[in-house]
Amino acid sequence: MKTIYLDNNATTRIAPEVRKAMTPYLAGLYGNPSSSHRFGSRLRKDTEEARAKVAALIGAEPEEVVFTGSGTESDNTALMSALECSPKKRHLITTKVEHPAVLNFISHLARKGCTATYLPVDGSGRLDMKELIKSVGKDTAAVSIMYANNETGVIFPMAEIAEALRGRGVVFHTDAVQAAGKVRVNVKETPLDMLSISGHKLHAPKGVGALYVRKGLQFHPYIIGGHQESGRRAGTENVASIIGLGRACELALERLEKDSVYLKGLRDRLESEIIRRCPDVRVNGAGAERLPNTVNISFSYIDGEAILLKLDKEGICASSGSACTSGSVEPSHVLRAMAVPVEAIQGSIRFSLSCYNTEAEIEVAADALPGIIKELRDLSPYGRGEKMC
Ligand SMILES: *Cc1c(COP(=O)(O)O)cnc(C)c1O
Repeated sequence: MKTIYLDNNATTRIAPEVRKAMTPYLAGLYGNPSSSHRFGSRLRKDTEEARAKVAALIGAEPEEVVFTGSGTESDNTALMSALECSPKKRHLITTKVEHPAVLNFISHLARKGCTATYLPVDGSGRLDMKELIKSVGKDTAAVSIMYANNETGVIFPMAEIAEALRGRGVVFHTDAVQAAGKVRVNVKETPLDMLSISGHKLHAPKGVGALYVRKGLQFHPYIIGGHQESGRRAGTENVASIIGLGRACELALERLEKDSVYLKGLRDRLESEIIRRCPDVRVNGAGAERLPNTVNISFSYIDGEAILLKLDKEGICASSGSACTSGSVEPSHVLRAMAVPVEAIQGSIRFSLSCYNTEAEIEVAADALPGIIKELRDLSPYGRGEKMC
C-alpha cells in the first residue's frame, strides 16, 4: 500500500536534492573541518557555504548562525545562554503552548531556582500581548515565544512582540522550527535576539539544527569542549548533515512563495472537504493566522487514537496532538490552553502537509475520513450529541 504522509510537522522526508548534496560527505569527504591539512580544511569551506545558506533563509549574516545537534538543543542553548549572561536575572517568560523543548526545559530550570511565567492564549490560540507586556520585570532574563505552533500552525506576531520588548533589557528568543521554510522569516525586519531551526522539519536530516544569535548579543555556549563553531558549540561538526541543512534552506528559500500557495491550496481543500462531509467538527486555531500546511481538527465524541489507527489501515499518516505527547493519555497542552472542550481535544487530529503531497493524496484522505468518523461515532457509547461525563 502506498503511504500518504500527512505528518510533516513531526518530521519530513529528506529532499532528493539534499540527499545528493550530502552523499560525498558520507563517502570520500570524511575529513575533520578543524584539521590543517587540505583534506580536512576543504570541509571548513563547505561548512561555511552551508552556514551562508542557512543565514540567507532567515535574513541573517553567516557569522550569526551556530550549528547545533537539533531544534531542542538550539532552544535549550538559547535559554541557558540568556541566564548565564545575566546571572542576576532569574525570571523567564514563555507561553503555555510551546514545544516541550522549551516548556520542559523551563520547568527544569524552575526546579533549579528560576521563576517562570507561562502566557495564556485565547480560544483561537492567539497570544495575550497585554499579559506579555505586564509580565516583563527587572528580573526577566529571557522571553521565549514560538514563531508558529507545531500542533495548530498558529503564528504569533513576531514583529509586534519584538517591538513590545525593545529596550526592556531582555533576550528575545523564538523557536522557529515550524516556521522556517514555511513562511517568510527575516531577522533584520523582526529584531529578535535568538532563533531556533531544526533540519528534519524542513527536508534536511534529523539530528542537525541551527541557532541564530544576533551580532553583538552576549552568548554563552551550552555544549563545552573544543573550539568548533567559533567557541559557541563544541563537538566535531556533523559535516554531512550541516551540508544537508544548508541545501535544504537554499531550496526552501527558492520555493517559499510557490510552496506556500500550493500548500495552502491543498490544506484548505482538505479542511473544507472535512467540514463539508463530517458533522460536529471544529478547526482549532481557525480564527488566527496559521502556517499554510497545518490543520488541526476536532471530531467530537470520538477518540483521536482510534481515528489514527483507522487512517493508518488506509496508509494515511497523521497525528493526534503532538507526536511527543501521543502515546501518553495526557490531552494536548496546546488545545487545553485554547480552552477546547475535553471531548473535542480527545478527538483531535493534526494533518500537516509538505510540498511532496499531491491533490490525489488529499482526495484519498478526504474520501476516507467521513466513513471512519461515522463508524467510530456509531460505535461510541457516548453517541453523537450525548454528553461525556
Ligand atoms: C520538532 C520541534 C522541535 C524539536 O526539534 P528537534 O530537532 O526534533 O529536536 C522544537 N520546536 C518545535 C516547534 C518543533 O516542532
